[in-house]
Amino acid sequence: MAELSLDTPAQYGQGVGPRRAEQLAELGIHTIEDLLTYYPRRFDLRRQAQPIATLTGNESEPVTVAGEVISARMNRYGSRPVFRAVLDDGSAEIEVKWFHGGYLQRQIRPGIHIAVNGKLSEYRRQLQFVNPKHQVLWDAEGADLDRDELLPVYPAGAHLSSNIIASIIRKNLPAASRLLRPWFDRTYLSQRGLVDRPTAIQAMHRPEDREQWGQARRRLAYDECLLLQLGIAIMRQRETSRPAHPLPPSARIDQRIRARFPFALTTAQDRAVAEIVADLASPRPMNRLLQGDVGSGKTVVALYAALQAVAHRRQAAILAPTELLARQHYAKVCQYLEGSRVNIRLLVGGMQARQRDRTLAELASGEVDIAVGTHALLGESVDFAHLALVVVDEQHKFGVRQRTAMRGKGFAPHYLVMTATPIPRTLALTVFGDLDVSTIDEPPPGRGETRTVLRTEKELDTILDITAAQLRKGRQAYFIYPLVSPSPDLELTAANDAYEQLSAGPLGEFGVGLVHGQMPNDDKQRVMKRFRDGQVKVLVASVVVEVGVDVPSANVMVIMHAERFGLAQLHQLRGRVGRGSDDALCMLVATPNNPIASERLRVLTETSDGFRIAEEDLRIRGPGEIFGTRQHGLPELKVADLVEDFELLRLARRDAFAIIDEDPDLAAPHNQQLRRQVQKLYADRLDLLGGA
Ligand code: ADP
Ligand code: MG
Repeated sequence: MAELSLDTPAQYGQGVGPRRAEQLAELGIHTIEDLLTYYPRRFDLRRQAQPIATLTGNESEPVTVAGEVISARMNRYGSRPVFRAVLDDGSAEIEVKWFHGGYLQRQIRPGIHIAVNGKLSEYRRQLQFVNPKHQVLWDAEGADLDRDELLPVYPAGAHLSSNIIASIIRKNLPAASRLLRPWFDRTYLSQRGLVDRPTAIQAMHRPEDREQWGQARRRLAYDECLLLQLGIAIMRQRETSRPAHPLPPSARIDQRIRARFPFALTTAQDRAVAEIVADLASPRPMNRLLQGDVGSGKTVVALYAALQAVAHRRQAAILAPTELLARQHYAKVCQYLEGSRVNIRLLVGGMQARQRDRTLAELASGEVDIAVGTHALLGESVDFAHLALVVVDEQHKFGVRQRTAMRGKGFAPHYLVMTATPIPRTLALTVFGDLDVSTIDEPPPGRGETRTVLRTEKELDTILDITAAQLRKGRQAYFIYPLVSPSPDLELTAANDAYEQLSAGPLGEFGVGLVHGQMPNDDKQRVMKRFRDGQVKVLVASVVVEVGVDVPSANVMVIMHAERFGLAQLHQLRGRVGRGSDDALCMLVATPNNPIASERLRVLTETSDGFRIAEEDLRIRGPGEIFGTRQHGLPELKVADLVEDFELLRLARRDAFAIIDEDPDLAAPHNQQLRRQVQKLYADRLDLLGGA
């Protein structure tokens, strides 16, 4: 047989035959390297084995003994089947019982050695183990029973128990880990306090103690973070290596743009503008994320960027996720630019063909300076004369960032994506890791305070009274219902029911409007307009996305079934009120029989800091769910925990970007191990490094 290598099929490993190989494949283990990196889920501490003769029955802790099975059989114990084995370790014998232990008959047979761990009990003056944990000792030197040992527990498969996986890995670990080539030199490792990789991998499976395991984990978490960041760094390099039109700033341009705004920018807006302006001046495309709560003033900053393009006689496109939001942006942009010569056009799906054709022609000829629309704007039939900037507003579609497929002709447009969902630090470095981030962390002046309270459905009458009192003062209110069902019909029913109920109740006299996902766009807009104009004072909304309105006199928000929303989403929703100078009230109505949900919601009553909320959300839901690296096309992480390992992630990011900066294609001889890993990890996702 050929010599063992990391790429050798697992089947040729020790103790693996064709059948085991198939079972390993079910766990995603195909090669020797996969086997090495199939890490334990946790460890059980197995105390050093004690001679059976020394046992007294007074031990306060579980004890371990190991010995040969000298007899094993099934019995009935009343109505309960019991599997009994007798162990002999040379000092004495002891009986071990497993109730309902029929499944053990094939594993535990006379002649094999096993270790058992558990509490002792006494039966008819004899010491015995009842239902202890057990470990089959496949080979005499495999398990070190003379000391305490951390026993690895592996994620089991349908056909492979943790014990069997452990034994396979144990047999292959020494030879296989000798195949590992170093990724870094000693200096690199010692500067970062990292152990070498073969040591780490061995200790990951068979640590001497917790501390050694901790060091191993840290090194392997670093490696994962580094590979992740190398992929991101390469992607970013690709994006930004295309030429872009530089849009250099000048004092005059700055003055003229600012003169368009009826207010001075906040410090936070100024900072974001400065960052964007610096990017735009570069002949490399900007790739920036602009984040800030709803109402923090992102649109103005984006418009500043658009006008920077227009000042250089180039075009800007502003994209919104829905037609409604596109129209709203369009109206706002028109308002700011009223009386100027800037030519603004709206392009959305529901336009008349003639109008659409004319707009398309104007985009292609360059007559249009700023185009506002939905993603339809990026369609293939849309041709821009000289597009220099694309702004994407994703405030309601967090995480579904689609890379603009705007390859342009030679030149790449600068790219700015806006989000109102606060992005936890970890995501800013991973899912959004190829973007620079600007943050608007301060609201425009003169806003009221929003108080958030937690209520139950039983308190609905009080909620309606409180709302009515506000409406009487001329204020307005939102009632938000979550999407209660994946079925559009049911959603409609729920929204309609809610609408009818509210209309028939004490709020009916103030006028109630309804928007839901199944409504035609025109109807939606009509209702929204009636609400904006104050003809109806209450808006019932079934679909969050449609609440993209800016109605300063709305200062009450009631969110039903609040427990069904994510924290970040709730935070974003409540940003819809408190946009005027009045104080606002947000009532989260949760189903009372769900204390965990209520506890989770409490964070919102305590803070209005979007980032704290986002971090909390991440902590509660776990990085797996939110992070969903896979759905973003990023490799899955097995060891690193992006919340716990944040500092490591940061370190790895710095290192990865430095490596790619110096060696963009990982072509240098000392980067060959990294190159191999990046290629393997991103193989089916991206042709990152070209052919091998
Ligand atoms: P976002 O896009 O972040 O939701 P907008 O840009 O729509 O926020 O701004 C929300 C509101 O705040 C708008 O009515 C806008 O006119 C106003 N606004 C924005 N920046 C300022 C500022 N610096 N001073 C006063 N009002 C501002
Ligand atoms: Mg906005």
